[in-house]
Amino acid sequence: MRVGIFGGSFNPPHMGHINSLVTVQKKAGLDKIHVVPAAQNPLKMEVEGPSAEQRLELVKKALNTYGKQFVVDDQEIKRGGLSYTIDTVTSLRKEVDPEDLFLIIGADQFEEFSQWKDYQKILTEANLIVTTRPGWEIPQEADELPEFLKALVAEYDFNFIELKTGRNVQFIRLQDIEVSATEVRKLLRTGRPVEKVLPLAVESYIRENKLYRPIGDRVGDFAKFTTFCANVLFSKKGIQVRAFDLTGLAAPTEYAVIASGTSTRHASSLAENVVQAVKEEYNVLPQSVEGVDEGRWVLVDYGSLIVHVFYDFVRQEYSLEKLWKDGKDLNLKDPYVK
Ligand code: ATP
Repeated sequence: MRVGIFGGSFNPPHMGHINSLVTVQKKAGLDKIHVVPAAQNPLKMEVEGPSAEQRLELVKKALNTYGKQFVVDDQEIKRGGLSYTIDTVTSLRKEVDPEDLFLIIGADQFEEFSQWKDYQKILTEANLIVTTRPGWEIPQEADELPEFLKALVAEYDFNFIELKTGRNVQFIRLQDIEVSATEVRKLLRTGRPVEKVLPLAVESYIRENKLYRPIGDRVGDFAKFTTFCANVLFSKKGIQVRAFDLTGLAAPTEYAVIASGTSTRHASSLAENVVQAVKEEYNVLPQSVEGVDEGRWVLVDYGSLIVHVFYDFVRQEYSLEKLWKDGKDLNLKDPYVK
């Protein structure tokens, strides 16, 4: 038995996932693939959305017409807390030999693979299959391999690498499907069509259970909410905190807050502080958070409000404020300066 593992947040499962599963299963000749929704990805910030059980249900719906070779595996959700792939690999290793176990990840995950807990152990206990994903490159020659992998290579043959651990890494090219769960959540929240990117059964379940609705009801007055977020940034020594009312402009959002940090670390922590304070005060999580790992431009999306936190140096490069010059500057003052 050649067994695959395909983990993810599946928030929600989309055609990019299905495309990868179906193609990899065929191309790599896998007998079955465990599809494992994470309880919480340690490398992603928690975002607003369905419960873990609902995401599990969504994955079942997504795969129910694709055959028995795809096994929906709830072990990470059952374990709860932060989900580490090494634990899932270890549990499947009880039934499968390491040479027959294949961890499947997209090129985006491959880039950050060295941040995964015990990644070297994972590469001892299972083979790795890396798929293409629009927007990310897969290595075309040995030189382009990420540093963490270079040290482990025993033999390199273009799309196939023998590792010193006894396992291998193979790259599989997929037909490009340009979709991410983040994008799908945005489409759903703004009522735009999703039939091209979601399996029908997933779309129906989302509608029936009223998932991915705008968070406006809980936030109430967005102008007040905007001031609240700006004040959190002031309190954590954000630089040049400004807020704009963009209603009436052709902007993707109604309100925007912008601030910067003195370092990438400061920028990430400013954004994290906003997320934390909003959770405590409003019991609302962002719809998405982007860029928090790098801390150059962190974008916290609350639907009608988007909070941009920059590393100050990068802020100059983008000059977002220029785009908003026809909006209304809320002229907020630092309440902590007497
Ligand atoms: P998010 O936008 O919330 O970060 P996501 O779309 O990346 O989510 P995940 O559930 O985190 O979805 O992804 C699970 C796995 O599917 C990952 O290995 C990821 O690389 C892969 N994947 C997701 N979308 C695509 C796609 N469009 N093409 C190929 N692989 C994909």
